[in-house]
Amino acid sequence: MRQKLVVIGNGMAGMRTVQELLAIAPGLYDITVFGAEPHPHYNRILLSPVLAGEQDLQDIVLNDWDWYREQGITLHAGRTVVQVDRARRVVRADDGTEAPYDRLLLATGSRPVMLPVPGADLQGVVAHRDIADTETMIEAARSHRHAVVIGGGVLGLEAASGLARRGMAVTVVHRNDWLMERQLDAEAAALLQQSLEVQGLQFRLGAQTEALRDDGQGRVCAVRLADGSELPADLVVMALGIRPNIALAQQMRLHCERGIVVSDTLQTVTDGRIYAVGECAQHRGVAYGLVAPLFEQGRVAANHLAQLGIGRYVGSTVSAKLKVTGIELLSAGDFMGGDGTEQLVLRDPQSGVYRKLVLKDERLVGACLYGDAEGGSWYLDLLREGRSVAGLREQLIFGEPAHG
Ligand SMILES: Cc1cc2nc3c(=O)[nH]c(=O)nc-3n(C[C@H](O)[C@H](O)[C@H](O)COP(=O)(O)OP(=O)(O)OC[C@H]3O[C@@H](n4cnc5c(N)ncnc54)[C@H](O)[C@@H]3O)c2cc1C
Repeated sequence: MRQKLVVIGNGMAGMRTVQELLAIAPGLYDITVFGAEPHPHYNRILLSPVLAGEQDLQDIVLNDWDWYREQGITLHAGRTVVQVDRARRVVRADDGTEAPYDRLLLATGSRPVMLPVPGADLQGVVAHRDIADTETMIEAARSHRHAVVIGGGVLGLEAASGLARRGMAVTVVHRNDWLMERQLDAEAAALLQQSLEVQGLQFRLGAQTEALRDDGQGRVCAVRLADGSELPADLVVMALGIRPNIALAQQMRLHCERGIVVSDTLQTVTDGRIYAVGECAQHRGVAYGLVAPLFEQGRVAANHLAQLGIGRYVGSTVSAKLKVTGIELLSAGDFMGGDGTEQLVLRDPQSGVYRKLVLKDERLVGACLYGDAEGGSWYLDLLREGRSVAGLREQLIFGEPAHG
């Protein structure tokens, strides 16, 4: 009899792992997938281009309903798993559907952080996380004028730019003194802000949100800041970061810290039959929030599920980009630099280009490129490999030397 694999989470990490598994060990498992969203597997990162009107929702579906049928996968879409009995090895969804497992894959992703201010539960207050949020924002842009995005990180700026492209007047409220401080230094962020202002966005930096005001009918109408000022807002997007979605794992008494703690084989440290991949997992102290790591994790987890020996996941080097048309940036590693590091910097204010490379002991440890991210993948390779760049120093800032 075939073994039973149950997957909780029909998102990017869960389905990537399933696809990898089907490629190397088709037929090894009877696979059942539970997904809280009432959609087939879609490319979450493309929600920003959908919001900006550059793509349609049907364009971002990665596996349609037929695919699940063709692969013999039982999909329970729109059903949230609410309980897992580890002793009986059975999962149960909110509608009572049960599925037994031999192996269980947790891929529950993250939850957006919502600011706990008065009015946070009003109509018109959303995150930028899933199709439902995107639909709410597109609908709001049709019938309303003013949007406030709280959070000037990658997701906040992508949401703000998308809403502006749909005709809304958008203000970004950000606590820090400069945008994307987790990816950019102040100089690159100032250039970014200028470009976004040219696209029509407005900014309130160093500002703290105190409350959201009700229009009297249960919908948000304004954002009040700590300095007492108010911004009109028919739509408020909270983009303050994410937290691994570990509620179910905690209820299952799996060891969790920030995320569900997993080993190099992506098995939970508590129960070897149970794996965790993607944003819900914490590996060697890190819970990632990007897709590149989950692709690597999916391969290793699939390998282990396929019983093809033990691949090991050793962690990922991540980099960040911003999906806003007309803006090119890339950031990776220790882009700020500090004691014991040196910086190579190129500035071309005329063309709005800024490049900073951070070196330590003749090795590249960080990069922050704005305006021209050409050669970015070469820098990422150098970062990952950690090899000496002593012989390349003079041309390093200009990108990969031409060969031949
Ligand atoms: C708008 C946006 C843009 C992004 N852009 C980029 C980018 O440019 N580059 C990049 O690298 N990353 C980007 N990301 C991040 C990337 O999308 C995530 O890292 C990735 O989706 C994480 O995959 P995951 O499977 O861990 O979580 P998810 O894709 O969120 O999937 C988790 C799924 O599990 C479901 N679920 C949770 N609990 C249960 C339960 N109990 N029962 C059933 N189902 C459950 C959820 O509903 C969800 O569908 C972006 C994210 C967003 C929101």
